[in-house]
Amino acid sequence: MKNYRIAAVPGDGIGPEVIAAGVEVLEAIASDNPDFELSFKHFPWGGDYYRKHGVMMPEDGVDTLRDYDAILFGSAGDPDIPDHITLWGLRLKICQTLDQYANVRPARLLPGIKGPLAGVTAEDLDWVIVRENSEGEYAGAGGRVHVGLPEEVGLDVSIFTRTGVERIQRFAFELARSRPRKKLTLVTKSNAQRHGMVFWDSVFDRIRSDYPDVETDKMLVDAMTTRMVLDPRSLDTVVATNLHADVLSDLAAALTGSLGIAPTGNLRPERDMPSMFEPIHGSAFDITGKGVANPIGTFWSSAMLLEHLGQTDAASRLMSAIERVTADGSVLPRDLGGSASTRQVTDAVLDALSKGNV
Ligand code: ATP
Repeated sequence: MKNYRIAAVPGDGIGPEVIAAGVEVLEAIASDNPDFELSFKHFPWGGDYYRKHGVMMPEDGVDTLRDYDAILFGSAGDPDIPDHITLWGLRLKICQTLDQYANVRPARLLPGIKGPLAGVTAEDLDWVIVRENSEGEYAGAGGRVHVGLPEEVGLDVSIFTRTGVERIQRFAFELARSRPRKKLTLVTKSNAQRHGMVFWDSVFDRIRSDYPDVETDKMLVDAMTTRMVLDPRSLDTVVATNLHADVLSDLAAALTGSLGIAPTGNLRPERDMPSMFEPIHGSAFDITGKGVANPIGTFWSSAMLLEHLGQTDAASRLMSAIERVTADGSVLPRDLGGSASTRQVTDAVLDALSKGNV
């Protein structure tokens, strides 16, 4: 029997609430599966840790994570600490140090969930957005000089390397190839950003002949927002830079019903270092501690975690349980139009799992 070691990093805001629910569901799946066990270790990093130690996580924190098979992450953010400190001190530090360069964000309408787009069904909206996760606009290059003076300058420099661009595009081609429609859309802004974005286009044009079975097209990021709303069916797999895909995937989450259901995996495809799975929502301070956070984004991310570990049956069992709960519609959280608490949604998914008929 395989034993997977999972690092749980709940973080702040609603992170601890949804990660507790995710761990509970993962433990339930593992407990009646003869093929594998999961052992969890919790790392209390985030805002409180920062108040005590002046850093979001210990200096050797990422090295500690290297020993784990996967990481389940909640949220980074604290009302009293600037966002760039919480984000760079925890989530981005983990992603960048472990070179989790492929951020995969599925977006589809789950059964029973009505999105805001009239007449759009589950068949019309089934996408995977692949976000470059290691460089680009969030590479961290830049600085501020002449601070406080009238001539102060702030610079954020986008970094695009051939290694970084080619590996994420090839990853997206492989993913597109594995999906029934075999379709990949490249999103850039190469009309206005004439260096890095034209570079993205040129890499795409060069490597696409290696994937003759994948149908391709290109969109500018502004036009892409319109297409996602007006013609969702025309899209399948999408690849874009760190910033562009960050924005587009929040739109995708809203179009599939709520930010609360959207999952993501920060993947290290080579598997020599652990990958990290998390709901895409943030800390949601407006609902923190109220017990009403939607845990479905964390459950779906947990299914991605199981799939990444190679436990595909367990992953599809969990997805089916989630879908039975959304299809049934009697236990939905507030952001999906219901009134159920985090506890009730978790119990409904546990119940669907235990009935064994999913
Ligand atoms: P960040 O900057 O950390 O990504 P954000 O400011 O974009 O975060 P969130 O903190 O994710 O946004 O919250 C945006 C809105 O969505 C809030 O009103 C929040 O309550 C709601 N929301 C986010 N996640 C959930 C969830 N899991 N369940 C219910 N509502 C949620």
